[in-house]
Amino acid sequence: MTNDTICAISTAPGIGGVAVIRVSGDEAISICNRLFHPHKKGKELACQKAYTLSYGTIIHEEETVDDVVAALFCAPHSFTGEDTVELTCHGSLYIQQRILQLLLAYGCRMAQPGEFTQRAFMNGKMDLSQAEAVADLIASTSEGQHRLAMNQMKGGFSKELKSLREQLLKITSLMELELDFADHEELEFADRGELKELASQIEGVISRLAHSFKVGNAIKNGTPVAIIGKTNAGKSTLLNLLLNEEKAIVSSIHGTTRDVIEDTTIIKGQLFRFIDTAGIRNTTDTIESLGIERTFQKIEQSSIILWMIDATDAMQQIKEIGNDIFLRCKDKQLIIVINKADLLGDYPDLSGLIPANMPIIFISAKEDRNIEQLQQLLIESTQATTQPGDIIVSNVRHFEALNHALDSIHRVQEGLECNLSGDFISQDLRECIFHLSDIVGEVTTDQVLGNIFSHFCVGK
Ligand code: GDP
Repeated sequence: MTNDTICAISTAPGIGGVAVIRVSGDEAISICNRLFHPHKKGKELACQKAYTLSYGTIIHEEETVDDVVAALFCAPHSFTGEDTVELTCHGSLYIQQRILQLLLAYGCRMAQPGEFTQRAFMNGKMDLSQAEAVADLIASTSEGQHRLAMNQMKGGFSKELKSLREQLLKITSLMELELDFADHEELEFADRGELKELASQIEGVISRLAHSFKVGNAIKNGTPVAIIGKTNAGKSTLLNLLLNEEKAIVSSIHGTTRDVIEDTTIIKGQLFRFIDTAGIRNTTDTIESLGIERTFQKIEQSSIILWMIDATDAMQQIKEIGNDIFLRCKDKQLIIVINKADLLGDYPDLSGLIPANMPIIFISAKEDRNIEQLQQLLIESTQATTQPGDIIVSNVRHFEALNHALDSIHRVQEGLECNLSGDFISQDLRECIFHLSDIVGEVTTDQVLGNIFSHFCVGK
């Protein structure tokens, strides 16, 4: 990491009302000062107080480029922790590029993707998990993703990890103190009973965090919902309705949806990934049987299953394949959706045929009837798994590190159980601390850092 001065356009590529060009580093103020001519005499950037806005013109030799507003941030109290100037100019592509060219000519270097955030991390403004949350925040498209990224950026996860590492260090130091006095066998600084208790608490927290990944991943990439049922039940019609587009082919010819169709949509701020599947029926058509096989795989990969049944023979169908479906979906949230309710006079009472508490809803996909209630059921099914304020892990790198930490703490527990000598146990404790430190970037290699920040956009 060098401390040269970097610059980049921070607003989205293209023409906009205004654009923001960010400059950060030791020379940020002096370079901008040479290009920026204040409208009021004596208001040169270099003389301005930090956290003020100045209005002026970018002029190079005889060329007037644009009127801009310059925002000044001084080290260490800026996003990057360095002196920073943000120039807001008019959004013309020419102006943006011209100012950038001039900044480069005056001594700046083009910033790498994510380099501003990388500098913030390097300068101790945030830990690595918070820096990663910045990228997630920028990429967020739903309320759920936004909430997750915002919590992580504000440091809820970091705080939890810090407290875990402190507890682990406490056990490790007691263990290692014992080793220093290894000649005195009678000395035992660490009460093994207390250590077991502490290790079990730590295991509980790491395990909760690791398990939260399932929910976090669903929020980030969409809660997977499989729409299953016999052919012609109206699965594709419902999918199109939920996605607001003609994605799946709707046809009255049985078996039209031969492959699996997936797409995401946001319902009440929550991202869902809907999977329309080939209908379940016995078939001799090879392509279709492959599709049906894939339906069962998709059940495995989904959290919520919508079993769509044609209302005109609902009773018959539940009797026929109900037990098979209930068995396959026993660890999932299953919602029974009776479609084509428009063809019914009265709704049949099916409660005796399905397990108690299993949600059931009558809809008409064709006439858009009860679809909002179905969406509400979907929302309720996802909320059952989280509590407000829960710390939820959504990053694969963090999930992997937590799993490694979990393995290590399990070895510590085993070691304590069979009275293993302190040096073995403290090695596993150190490993556990290492994996937790990796999440916040304390022991992370340059290669991993490079990989993380290269996925950011330029200008952030
Ligand atoms: P899939 O095989 O389960 O994907 O079923 P489709 O969505 O292709 O629908 C099969 C047929 O049922 C089509 O002709 C649809 O227009 C019709 N259909 C779908 N939903 C309804 C509904 O709510 N009411 C009625 N009356 N027909 C429907």
